[in-house]
Amino acid sequence: MKADNSPSNTNEPAPLILAGPCSAESEEQVIQTARAIKQHTTATVFRAGVWKPRTNPGGFEGIGLIGLSWLLQAKKETGLKTAVEVATAEHVNNALQFDTDVLWIGARTTVNPFSVQEIADALKGTDKLILVKNPINPDAKLWIGAIERLRKVGIENIGLIHRGFSSYVKGKYRNAPMWQIPIEMKRLYPEIPMIVDPSHICGNRFDLQDIAQKGLNLGYQGLMIESHIDPNAAWTDKEQQITPRELQLLLEGLIWKKHQADKQFSQQIDNLREQINLFDDELIQLLTNRLATAQQIGNLKKENNVAVLQSNRWNEILTNMIEKGTSVGLNDQFVQAFMEIIHLESIRLQSNLNQSGID
Ligand code: PEP
Ligand code: MN
Repeated sequence: MKADNSPSNTNEPAPLILAGPCSAESEEQVIQTARAIKQHTTATVFRAGVWKPRTNPGGFEGIGLIGLSWLLQAKKETGLKTAVEVATAEHVNNALQFDTDVLWIGARTTVNPFSVQEIADALKGTDKLILVKNPINPDAKLWIGAIERLRKVGIENIGLIHRGFSSYVKGKYRNAPMWQIPIEMKRLYPEIPMIVDPSHICGNRFDLQDIAQKGLNLGYQGLMIESHIDPNAAWTDKEQQITPRELQLLLEGLIWKKHQADKQFSQQIDNLREQINLFDDELIQLLTNRLATAQQIGNLKKENNVAVLQSNRWNEILTNMIEKGTSVGLNDQFVQAFMEIIHLESIRLQSNLNQSGID
């Protein structure tokens, strides 16, 4: 049986679910995956990459043009719409020739205004849905720039895909979600649907459900998820792909938020609470990082027999932070109290390392 995850109110646009393998690998893999997705899930769009941007040369860079003919065949056989990533004008022309329904701009392309402009120019005149993944680096301006470039050539049918961001701090996920960026994009462009791509955020199979649900809790309108007929044999991104049956279970477990007017208040409250939770998660992560660094400083002080409390340094931090805080409108007493409690904890941790104590 298929998962019915559409909101019960029929006025509600159905959530857009795009599913399919990271890469098209063979005719058999494409057709079998598409059949299983059609049979088991409520996805309506079948995705597969035929040109794959790889960090290092020498990896599988996509099956190329022939993959588009397999997608077209999958569409004819299953009735699913098709979606493919495009990175150049030539890709766009090929995708349009093969009647691909949805074209998406990948995270490594959104960062490059030249490429986005080239794609926008090639897309001119199309009314196909164009999805723009967030840029790989956490810079909302590049995402905004891509939307504006598409709009400037007359493309109106646009959606955004949140696939997470590169970060120098290694966290739990392959790509840090940094929820505040898509939240800001939703504020700036409330009319543009936001879709969550838990596969590329997580980089594993286990957190997909949780990240997908977090997106839905924030009022996202869809889901792009990688699904492969035999994930362990996938040529790319095997750790994060799931079978169509596993996808069905995931979809059945999701709670789709309704957006009706009479629910507007609770919807807004839910969204705001979810934002608070995400900010709190980030605060905890930042505090952990800050205290770990303080501990490293403590070790250095211990090795060099330096006292834990360095009053000048502490005064400098406090003055600096109060200045920074007040310049963005924070209350000075709040900033002082907040910094003092963090500083006290740093001192406590350093003193535990250094039994010579606080001077
Ligand atoms: C993909 O969807 O397979 C892909 C390459 O995604 P991203 O651009 O998010 O890395
Ligand atoms: Mn992928």
